Amino acid sequence: MFLFLGSHPALDFLNTRYAPDANAVECIGDGRAFIDWLVQVGLLEAAGAAKMKRRFGPQALDAASEEARRVREWARGFIARWREAPAADYGREVAQLNGLLARGSSRREVVVSEGRLRLTESQRVESVDELLALVAVQIASLITNEEPALIKDCASSVCTLSFLDRTKSHRRLFCSPTVCGNRAKVAAFRERQRKD
Ligand SMILES: [Zn+2]
Repeated sequence: MFLFLGSHPALDFLNTRYAPDANAVECIGDGRAFIDWLVQVGLLEAAGAAKMKRRFGPQALDAASEEARRVREWARGFIARWREAPAADYGREVAQLNGLLARGSSRREVVVSEGRLRLTESQRVESVDELLALVAVQIASLITNEEPALIKDCASSVCTLSFLDRTKSHRRLFCSPTVCGNRAKVAAFRERQRKD
């Protein structure tokens, strides 16, 4: 099951592997799942995705998903270090990220949307290699546009998800108030009862 609780596609990407209650779940275990995730997170159009599945075949897409999983774990480490020390020297990581970005080809155009003119940038995907560029753009946007201090790990001790705190008060604690937030409340309630 895909989770979109990260409030940023780059963090949703990291969250494609999570471990609720110590059981690891892999959401992009093969090419088909990786493509489906790209569509659901909004980085790939459904029509384009169907065409890619037909054109490139399962083997090439499986290889892309394998690379995506590798890039994900690399990005997880990079983002964690950057959160700890935003001003450190990330020359090597940036070079790697730029390598992924260079695979993509984007098109800029002015469009009319809701009565206003807007500049949009869309990524064209002509090859399997370019799929990783879609994800790289999001990682790049996270580390260049967002505050490292607002990238947080869910406060639940049994949850491994990360999210970008976009709340005004910057006091978001949980990936999901209904799942992890409630679980924490229940645990605190039980703890209080135990002590009484
Ligand atoms: Zn959580």
